[in-house]
Amino acid sequence: MFEKIIDFIRGLYNTAGIIPLHEPRFRGNEKKYLNECIDSTYVSSVGKFVDIFEKKVAEYTGSKYAVAAVNGTASLHIALILSNVKHGDEVITQPLTFIATANAIVYTGAKPVFIDVDKDTMGLSPIKLENFLNDNTYSVEDDTGIYSYNLITHKPIKVCIPMHTFGHPARIKELKQICDKYHIVMIEDAAESLGSFYKGKHTGTFGKFGILSFNGNKIITTGGGGMIITDNKELAIKAKHLTTQAKVPHKWEYVHDDIGYNYRLTNLAAAIGVAQIEQLPGFIKAKRQLAEEYKNFFKNTEIKFIEEPEYAKSNYWLNTVILKNRKERDKFLQFTNENDVMTRPAWRLINKLLMYKDCTKDNLDNAEWLADRVVNIPSSVK
Ligand SMILES: *Cc1c(COP(=O)(O)O)cnc(C)c1O
Repeated sequence: MFEKIIDFIRGLYNTAGIIPLHEPRFRGNEKKYLNECIDSTYVSSVGKFVDIFEKKVAEYTGSKYAVAAVNGTASLHIALILSNVKHGDEVITQPLTFIATANAIVYTGAKPVFIDVDKDTMGLSPIKLENFLNDNTYSVEDDTGIYSYNLITHKPIKVCIPMHTFGHPARIKELKQICDKYHIVMIEDAAESLGSFYKGKHTGTFGKFGILSFNGNKIITTGGGGMIITDNKELAIKAKHLTTQAKVPHKWEYVHDDIGYNYRLTNLAAAIGVAQIEQLPGFIKAKRQLAEEYKNFFKNTEIKFIEEPEYAKSNYWLNTVILKNRKERDKFLQFTNENDVMTRPAWRLINKLLMYKDCTKDNLDNAEWLADRVVNIPSSVK
C-alpha cells in the first residue's frame, strides 16, 4: 500500500529524486524587483516595496489595513501587546499549533491556556471553548472593562488565538461569538491560511487582528516576513509605530515615545513579497488541483485525506492524511522518508513540551487523537 502511495506522489511530481514537503516557487518578478531595490539603495525597512506589499495584502484579504513585520511570530507579539495583554494575564490557544503561537504569548509575560481542537478542522473547537469558559470563569468589571477570570488562577483571560491549521479555516464565526460573549479579544493566527476563506471572507479578518507569515515554507514567502491585518485604523497606526522602534516621525530628530521593537519588514524582503503575491492566485489554483488529485487517490484506501470544511475554501497549504493509529503513522513516516518522499507528523502538542507542561489545559482528546495520526504529505506547487 505505502509503495503505491510513493508511486502516486512520484507520478504527481514526475521525478525519481527527493520530493520535499513544501518548496517555494520563484517564477515571477522576484529578481526584477530585488534589482530595483538594490539599484535604488533602499534595502532596509524604508522603501516602496514595503508599502506596496502592505497594500496588496490588505486588498487580497479584504482587510482595511495591513502592517508588515519581520515575521509571523513578531506580528503575533505586536497583536497581543495591542490587545492589552500584560504580565500575568492568560491567553487561550490550541495545543496543536506551531510553537510560535505559544511563544508569542509568553513574550508578553502572559500564560497560555490550552483548549482542544475539532477533529475535522484541526482548529480550535467552539464547543470545547464554550464549555471551558462556562465551567471555569467568572466575570469581573473594573473601570477599563469587563473580563472573564480563570476560576482557579484568578487571572483575566484577555485573548483567544485560534489557528487555521494547515490552511483549513477553523469554525471562526462561532469562535468569535463565544469570545464576544465572554469579553475575550480574538486574534487569528492565519500564518498558514493566506488564500483560505470562511464563507467567502478571508481568514484573519474575523478577529481584532489577524497575523500572516511569509516564512520560507508558507504558501508565499519573503524569506522571512509577517503581516498584521486589522480593520481598526488606530490599531494599525499603533502597530506600525511599535514595529518601528516607536519613533516619533520627524525629519532629523530621534525621539521615541514608547518601548518599541525593530520589527519592520525590509524592502528587500517586501520586494520578493510583491512578486510572490502576484503569483498567489496561480499557486492556490495549483494547490487546490493537487489536493483534488490526492483526494481522489486516497478515496480507495484506508488512509483518510483531510478535505476543506464544507463552509470553507482552503488554500491546501499542507495536504494532510490520517493514518489508522500511531504505529501505522510511524511506519508510514519511516517508509516515505526512507524513500525520499518527505512527510512529517503534526507538531508535538505544545502542552507536552517542557516549557509549557504546567500551563492550564482542558481535556485535549481530539488534539491527542490527531497528534497520533496526522501526517503532512508533499504539497509544493507542481
Ligand atoms: C509559520 C507560523 C507562524 C509564524 O512563523 P514565522 O516563522 O515567525 O513567520 C505562526 N504560527 C503558525 C501556526 C505558523 O505556522
